[in-house]
Amino acid sequence: MSDCLFCKIRDEQVLAFKDIGPKAPLHQLVIPLRHIASLADATPADAPLFGHMMLVAAQIARDAGYTDGGFRVVMNAGPDAGQSVFHAHLHVLAGRALAWPPG
Ligand code: 5GP
Ligand code: ZN
Repeated sequence: MSDCLFCKIRDEQVLAFKDIGPKAPLHQLVIPLRHIASLADATPADAPLFGHMMLVAAQIARDAGYTDGGFRVVMNAGPDAGQSVFHAHLHVLAGRALAWPPG
């Protein structure tokens, strides 16, 4: 579907979609198509994939008009960081002032 934003953000390596429980006006997840449970499980061979995920996140923010105001990318790794879904994913958050440090 050529007018579907999500379809445009699917390529041979990653898929992006809206978080089911958005924490900001823009909250998308970028995931590798290949199963990697956590960033902690990534190897040097995965470096291009994780770099690509960052660039896709920036493109999502750019497409949604948030590069001037700013955006945040977050990857929780492990229970203490709050990772609840063990398929690695990058959060892309924007559209409100985001506190620092995170909780
Ligand atoms: P984590 O806590 O692992 O860093 O992030 C998991 C995220 O996945 C959460 O923000 C949660 O809202 C989102 N999530 C959990 N289940 C689903 C689902 O079935 N669909 C979508 N789109 N997001 C989900
Ligand atoms: Zn998986």
